[in-house]
Amino acid sequence: MMEQNLELVDRFGRKHNYLRISLTERCNLRCTYCMPPEGVELGPKSQYMTADEILKIASEFVAMGVTKIRLTGGEPLIRKDFEKILRSLANLNVELAITSNAVILDKYLELFKELGVENLNLSLDSLDQEKFGNITRRNYFDKVMSNIQLFLDEGFKLKINAVLIKGFNENEIVPFIEWTKDKDLHVRFIEFMPFDGNSWNMDKMVSLQEIKDITFQHYSEDKVVRLIDKPNDTAKNYRIEGYKGTFAVISSVTNPFCDSCNRIRLTSDGKLKNCLFSSGESDLLAVLRKGDSIRDLICENLASKLKVRSGKNTLEDFTNTEWHKTNRSMVRIGG
Ligand code: SAM
Repeated sequence: MMEQNLELVDRFGRKHNYLRISLTERCNLRCTYCMPPEGVELGPKSQYMTADEILKIASEFVAMGVTKIRLTGGEPLIRKDFEKILRSLANLNVELAITSNAVILDKYLELFKELGVENLNLSLDSLDQEKFGNITRRNYFDKVMSNIQLFLDEGFKLKINAVLIKGFNENEIVPFIEWTKDKDLHVRFIEFMPFDGNSWNMDKMVSLQEIKDITFQHYSEDKVVRLIDKPNDTAKNYRIEGYKGTFAVISSVTNPFCDSCNRIRLTSDGKLKNCLFSSGESDLLAVLRKGDSIRDLICENLASKLKVRSGKNTLEDFTNTEWHKTNRSMVRIGG
């Protein structure tokens, strides 16, 4: 039989079977590390993919070997036709996953149960109500916490994404780990990454090493169990012995994991990005709207994928914020 995903292999032999689709650039939160303070200017509705176009593009990727699709944004759940999109993608032979801020998650509990969507990554940067308000510039802490509890009670396997920012929430590393004592959830500490308009600088980032130092200051070494990471896992995984849940660090800045990258990204306006940090994009939506096949453009885009962080090979390159001004803000890429 023909190798199914031959077309989605890049020059470095990396197989791309994981597509992340941003459904919208809009969000009901205003996280400071994600959205520029002035917000993002939205284009006319016609600029963005319709539900039918999302299905057509996703179907092409599945035919080329994609086995997992994550819906993200902006906040994917605030799209009015979210249910329609999810139902249509559920007909493809693919694992579906969602990244959300959990503010209106309860609205979709029954739908997720019906469609068997179990893989949810939820963002929560602080366990403190006031800090949550400071970072998100919105007051939805209680809603998010009750939705997390609701989905845990319903047996969902939740991953919690916490972006760490120096002087703001690194003192919550231990409280977050303690949260996993009695709750079967997986907390992932994310190194703060540079994007357009997010005022990033190296001093604000809490590194993998610092996270480990803080963890080992609090827990004795024999209690911190290093777990075996799954293939293509972006995280280094741990469990405190005897705790129900687990935690991890995603170290995109100090320890990139490009060698095992299997991801490609589709922005809500239908542009393909072969790396979170690539400013080059391929306009799949324009080709689709002309009625042409998007397959060649997908292959071309993947063939141009660079080995490490879209050419920012060293930490020095990567931390040069000038580079990132040519890329989009995170809210417009889709995390
Ligand atoms: N609205 C959804 C949410 O809040 O999860 C999905 C979109 S959000 C862009 C996806 C993920 O990207 C979130 O977990 C967020 O914390 C992460 N993220 C955004 N900006 C980031 C940055 N500068 N560094 C690291 N992670 C970031």
